[in-house]
Amino acid sequence: MAKQDYYDILGVNKSATATEIKKAYRKKALQYHPDKNPNDKTAEEKFKQAAEAYEVLSDPDKKSRYDQFGHQAFEGGAGGFGGGGMNMDDIFSQFGDIFGGGFGGGFSGFGGHRQRVVKGSNLRIRIKLTLEDIANGVEKKIKVKRKIVASGTTYKTCTTCNGSGQVTRITNTILGRMQTSAPCNMCGGAGQMIDKKAAGTDAQGLILSEETVSIKIPAGVVDGMQLKVSGKGNAAPGNGIAGDLLVAIQEEKHSTLQREGDNLHYDLYVSFPDAVLGLSKEIDTVTGKVRIKIDAGVQSGKILRLRGKGIPSINGYGKGDLLVHINVWTPKTLNKHQKEFFENMRGDEHFEPKPESTDKSFFEKVKDMFS
Ligand SMILES: [Zn+2]
Repeated sequence: MAKQDYYDILGVNKSATATEIKKAYRKKALQYHPDKNPNDKTAEEKFKQAAEAYEVLSDPDKKSRYDQFGHQAFEGGAGGFGGGGMNMDDIFSQFGDIFGGGFGGGFSGFGGHRQRVVKGSNLRIRIKLTLEDIANGVEKKIKVKRKIVASGTTYKTCTTCNGSGQVTRITNTILGRMQTSAPCNMCGGAGQMIDKKAAGTDAQGLILSEETVSIKIPAGVVDGMQLKVSGKGNAAPGNGIAGDLLVAIQEEKHSTLQREGDNLHYDLYVSFPDAVLGLSKEIDTVTGKVRIKIDAGVQSGKILRLRGKGIPSINGYGKGDLLVHINVWTPKTLNKHQKEFFENMRGDEHFEPKPESTDKSFFEKVKDMFS
């Protein structure tokens, strides 16, 4: 089934501002919220779609990729983000970011009956990686400023709901006495409230602290991908759980290697005499220099494939290759002596091109490579 356009899902046009997109999402989220549509699979689906659309359109990087490539921007390769990969926890944590969350306000959780777990807000950082880092996997230690519960801050069970997070009301209606339960206003459904607030902390008793977080980055990540380090976002007050640290991957340009999926490309320029006589040459790979041998009489446009010298697949399906493209460099100017030499060679039957069936044209080679 074709995926619906993200703008259509939110009911905005492509020129919508960030505020308009947020507003549109809020409207859809409230309309299809599971609490309002219990046991309605269609509403739940629409709720998830809206969250996914917002996840992409609210992020300037992802939005510009989406505008350029559509859904394809997030498919294939590594399955970095979006693509239906959000679960309900992610969506509700997204609400926390957008609609305030934390103590007071927000939603009562999926289904409305479960006690609400307060989750701290997510933090987002960007990490620059070299192609070597990506090829080999790397562990990065990053300083992150996150909110933590300050020492001296304590929480106690909410006195209004006795920790259940719910208050029950009995109301008289024409149908008789009805019992309804609603999230506790006092604690916002968390079941806990602040007892002692340490000096210098915010309203929730939290304080900003710098922490070194170690982030393990698997080999094969892709530019624009987002990794999640659970529990390394801002802490939540009371018995809540910390938010996540979302790490966006940024790939630095390599000086000689170009990445195409899991394959790498290297342009090797070979002098006229080297092409004629053959040579051995050191080239860059992501695991260090490698010496390759080029046979005498190599043709320009030949591609050498170094198997397994590319990037490991993020999904664990082997490794890409390194493709070395041979470019024979023709001198633009010659001195008198050199010119004489080549003039003597011109017309010599030995130098006339005689392509063999193995000397495929560039286009045939490219075709072979991807078949
Ligand atoms: Zn309460």
